[in-house]
Amino acid sequence: MRVWVFSNSGTASTNAAHSLNKKLKAAGFTINPARPDVVITVGGDGTLLSAFHRYNAALDKIRFVGVHTGHLGFYTDWRDYELDELVTALKNDHGERIGYPLLDILVTYADDTTGHYVALNEATLKRASSTMKTDVYIKDNFFESFRGDGLCICTPTGSTAYSKSNGGAVLHPRLQALQVTEIASINNRVFRSLSAPIILAPDEWVVLKPASDVQYVMTIDQFHMSDRPIKSVRYQIADEHIYFAKYRHMHFWDRVEDAFIGAKKE
Ligand code: NAP
Repeated sequence: MRVWVFSNSGTASTNAAHSLNKKLKAAGFTINPARPDVVITVGGDGTLLSAFHRYNAALDKIRFVGVHTGHLGFYTDWRDYELDELVTALKNDHGERIGYPLLDILVTYADDTTGHYVALNEATLKRASSTMKTDVYIKDNFFESFRGDGLCICTPTGSTAYSKSNGGAVLHPRLQALQVTEIASINNRVFRSLSAPIILAPDEWVVLKPASDVQYVMTIDQFHMSDRPIKSVRYQIADEHIYFAKYRHMHFWDRVEDAFIGAKKE
């Protein structure tokens, strides 16, 4: 098996990554950053997001494993004091994997060229200053005219990140669905949008057609772009999935409880 350890630059993570690399070599694994079968991230959910974008051209060939050097995360199943158990699990690997949906983003720029991107957590369209005005279409049917700071479209695994801060629901990652949340919408006698998160079915898509001649900020996970005028953006569930090596299974709602509530009943 070819493995690659992808770490953030924090001291705890680089130390854990160094130790893990030594254990993997001693156990006979091939360290190969160019064509890994398994990418082990060491850091947090943000580190796994970075690794996902580093390897997003080969998602069908790679499985991810997340080691967290802080608290347990949503993309991280292992803690940095469990490296020996992780190496043993990798040695007993039979290729088990679990796949989760991704977000496909097709941008049409004002000059009619297009850009195609994939997000693991979410994509947003915003304005850095002033109100964003955009028409919203669902499956090519006009739905509403939105006024506010922006809109966020997330995957089920991304529903515990930015979308949740916007009042979105937490979605179980086995659902094949996308969620749209509003970021500070303006609702008054003149402007009206739904003012509630919406959850799209697997065969549905949403298209934003923002007012022309103004500058937008488009975010895709941790990246942002604002350099080109945008005509429209289409969001739908991607054909690709992200795959995780399935060595241990933590109940999703236990993970949510651990991350956001944390106080077990006596
Ligand atoms: P970042 O500092 O790397 O991440 C922000 C926080 O989001 C970190 O605590 C990170 O956890 C956590 N996180 C990432 N993915 C998550 C998930 N799927 N579920 C629950 N928590 C998650 O920020 P960044 O580099 O700018 O952007 C990365 C992500 O941050 C974005 O995809 C977005 O979802 C989120 N974000 C949230 C807000 C907000 O809530 N207001 C605003 C901007 C961006 P770790 O500490 O484990 O890395």
